[in-house]
Amino acid sequence: MVRIINILKYFLIFNKEIIFLILISIPNVFKHLFLIFLIMEKTQSFLKYKDELIANAKAISASGKGILAADESTSTIGNRFKGIDVENIEENRRSYRELLFTSEGIENYISGVILFEETLHQSTKDGVKFTDLLNSKGIIPGIKVDKGTIVIAGTNNETATQGLDDLGKRCATYYSQGARFAKWRSVLKIGKNEPSELAIQENAHGLARYAAICQENGLVPIVEPEVLVDGTHDIDECAEKSERVYSAVVKALHEHKILLEGSLLKPNMVTAGSESTNKVSAQEIAWKTVRTLLRTIPGAIPGIMFLSGGQSEDQASANLNEMNKLKDVRTPWNLSFSYGRALQHSCLRKWLGKEENVADAQKVFLEKARNNSLATLGQYEAKSGDSGSESLHVKGYVY
Ligand code: 13P
Repeated sequence: MVRIINILKYFLIFNKEIIFLILISIPNVFKHLFLIFLIMEKTQSFLKYKDELIANAKAISASGKGILAADESTSTIGNRFKGIDVENIEENRRSYRELLFTSEGIENYISGVILFEETLHQSTKDGVKFTDLLNSKGIIPGIKVDKGTIVIAGTNNETATQGLDDLGKRCATYYSQGARFAKWRSVLKIGKNEPSELAIQENAHGLARYAAICQENGLVPIVEPEVLVDGTHDIDECAEKSERVYSAVVKALHEHKILLEGSLLKPNMVTAGSESTNKVSAQEIAWKTVRTLLRTIPGAIPGIMFLSGGQSEDQASANLNEMNKLKDVRTPWNLSFSYGRALQHSCLRKWLGKEENVADAQKVFLEKARNNSLATLGQYEAKSGDSGSESLHVKGYVY
């Protein structure tokens, strides 16, 4: 009986009919050897991508470079297009992404681009696949793999992120299509009783499970616990609640045996709430963000790639710059960016969906990319007259 259960167990683990047939047909003495062989194979396949994951995580967090988050879902890019009166059709989405990726010199500032699934399959108007174009510039293509959020019943509108069910299959396909890293956005909010322990645990588990599945399939996971800026809280409440969230996430990453050297973190910066009346300086944001990360994030993770979270383009660059200028603080990771809005806002406004504006829009995009590249080195200086002070905050933001 025990033997039958064991055989069934291995059959379930490896899910190969042939294994079952072999096990019932070979003599006992070979059975154990065969099972040991299978277990070694399975362990090997988990480690199969180890070197590649480490190399890619390191390359993405290379000094002076960051990530362009161009993975807006069809409805989110639709909202952006609405603001500039551009129709949300596939050709407009394709040509806008072409504008970004063909900007000359993008590779000097950008090491990775996160794509939405539709973009992964698209090409330039001359027929060059976007993934080939990016690779030819030494930029690593990534893919958004989460399927958005859903409210956790019994909470005050706190959410869990969806998409785990078929994630393994999708990651294997994305890898074969050229993606080498992935993004999964978990959202937590600050309120009187939020984030609740339930939401923290649910999101930490989701992020860790996602990271494990990515690594099994050769994709570097960007672990993104976003503590939303929405609310009236002060910066210290954000620091305290972010610290609780990050420590739960890291604990889950350990429990799920995530290869930290082959992962990246994409957190919020520690700031006051969007409706807080307290003004906080970039220096204070920088120090409280870095202090929170030092308390919680292992140095084995090579890069911390911040989201911009509704900050203006200038603020996002200034805050990152101050972090990289902090004196007497040694940080084990590269502190860089993975911005969506803070890299694209002015560019979109310049483009307006018109072919004749492409060159000027690319210039603006490159200016923002360069500003943030300088900020990763602590060398950014805001120029007066720079466009980019407009707040990009949207309450309850959905990506
Ligand atoms: P923002 O920089 O616009 O916050 O977006 C980054 C991102 O990828 C959020 O998931």
